[in-house]
Amino acid sequence: MALKALIIGGGAGGTTQALALHRIGVEAVVYERDSDSAAYEGHLLSLGSNGLDALRALDVELDGAPIPRLPMYSGSGKRIGTLYNNAASETAPTSLLICRGTLERTLRELCAERGVRIEYGKELASCTVGDKGATAVFTDGTTAEGDVIVGADGAHSRVRRSLFPQSADASYTGVLGLGGRSLPGTVEPTPGECVTSFGYEGHFSYHVEADRGVQWLAFAPRQEPADPDDDTTEKEWKEWLLDVYGRDMPAVREIITNATGPIDIRPMERLPKPPARHRGRGVLIGDACAITGRIGAGTALAMEDAVVLAQCLRDIDSPERAFATYQELRTPRVDKVVKWGEMNAKPVKVRTPWGMHLRDLFGPLLMKWMPSLVSMDWLYGHHIDWQQTVRPKD
Ligand SMILES: Cc1cc2nc3c(=O)[nH]c(=O)nc-3n(C[C@H](O)[C@H](O)[C@H](O)COP(=O)(O)OP(=O)(O)OC[C@H]3O[C@@H](n4cnc5c(N)ncnc54)[C@H](O)[C@@H]3O)c2cc1C
Repeated sequence: MALKALIIGGGAGGTTQALALHRIGVEAVVYERDSDSAAYEGHLLSLGSNGLDALRALDVELDGAPIPRLPMYSGSGKRIGTLYNNAASETAPTSLLICRGTLERTLRELCAERGVRIEYGKELASCTVGDKGATAVFTDGTTAEGDVIVGADGAHSRVRRSLFPQSADASYTGVLGLGGRSLPGTVEPTPGECVTSFGYEGHFSYHVEADRGVQWLAFAPRQEPADPDDDTTEKEWKEWLLDVYGRDMPAVREIITNATGPIDIRPMERLPKPPARHRGRGVLIGDACAITGRIGAGTALAMEDAVVLAQCLRDIDSPERAFATYQELRTPRVDKVVKWGEMNAKPVKVRTPWGMHLRDLFGPLLMKWMPSLVSMDWLYGHHIDWQQTVRPKD
């Protein structure tokens, strides 16, 4: 189908979408609100085998630390068990740990290499969709015309707002994600593993590289989200984190104490399901239509969305029917992941050492008795057969 696609948002979802559409011969232009920052590193992201599998369909391989296991500790330092965040199949790629900034930069560079244009500093204000095409209106007063528009503009998607003005926006869950790097200290390297500590107040994950440099990510409860213009200094954030994790295992405290700026701060959000994933010539992918919360699955799901949407546009001759088929194919799976994310939305607080003792006692038993907690193959083992023809759902 000879189409021109306007993709709003140049995050992991939007850039994967651009690469996937380029693959099927659709002209795509990405409009990204922010400037292209080469310095931004961000926090660690766990990118599941299922996301890497989706990228394989586009001949994209990423560099990162292979992480098939997530050992779990209680805040006291007792090992509770291990989660396997990888596909069971031996041919599936191994889940990776990669910094958000590195991931976005890699995908953007690939777009540039393959001839896909990304326009930075273009913030969508609104869009309109008709029977024959879509118009994007940017806050700088310019517009762009295309045959279709893809909303890959994240939790507070303006494409979603334009397609479904009545649908609710994303809201803060009361948990803040903070992450960054820490100087090499005395914590031992964790090859193949990202350790998670279930502390008194919040959860804390870290990976220690061979040179003992650390990538870390904290999920800490906080009533108010941090404002983007917040002037809290890194020193103050560290003090606050030490307060939240002050009673937890020494490795966590050491990593926070030795944290080197900048600290990436992101609110964890929830999104009521929008009425649909598409309307007319407009369609939504990734966080713009579903937020999966704290379980580290959203990036991979956005990549799956992008690849499946491209398959539908490749094999079905009208965009509207392609979008309807994409919705039908994606909804059951994404709903299941969102439900799983909601169940794990907030860290369970422990108030007393006695409570932590109970966690130490029952945590390992729970992991043993509930294999569904340990085996997540339904999530990570998802495979997209790029060669398979998609049949329209009527
Ligand atoms: C603290 C934290 C930790 C996480 N950890 C993990 C993890 O370990 N593994 C995992 O898989 N997922 C994780 N996630 C979820 C993951 O970040 C998202 O699911 C993923 O980024 C979704 O990709 P996306 O492209 O849909 O949206 P985004 O990554 O949000 O990208 C949206 C893009 O659109 C741009 N944009 C926004 N508005 C406009 C506009 N009006 N006009 C133009 N451009 C616009 C933004 O600048 C951005 O570049 C985490 C989330 C948080 C908050």
